[in-house]
Amino acid sequence: MYCRNCGQQISDDAYVCPMCGVKTKDEPDKNPNDHSVVLGLIALIVGIIIPLVAWICGGIGLSHASKNNNQAGKTLCIIGIIVGTIMFFVYLGQTL
Ligand SMILES: [Zn+2]
Repeated sequence: MYCRNCGQQISDDAYVCPMCGVKTKDEPDKNPNDHSVVLGLIALIVGIIIPLVAWICGGIGLSHASKNNNQAGKTLCIIGIIVGTIMFFVYLGQTL
């Protein structure tokens, strides 16, 4: 891509232009429809008790996060899903 300030060609993933130091992008807009962080937290907390909730909330949260490029939300949801899956097997082991 090209720097919008000085017009130099710079790396696509450069956060600031190495030539002039100006930010290459505006801060990403916070999307009000992005509930991935909240969903990820629900997945994590409730998922420990009810793994199904972790999968549902984590799954919905993941789609929100990827739509909005929300790394924090994505990470939270993935952790929630993993925790839910682990707990599922823990409970499964207890009932057997
Ligand atoms: Zn520049």
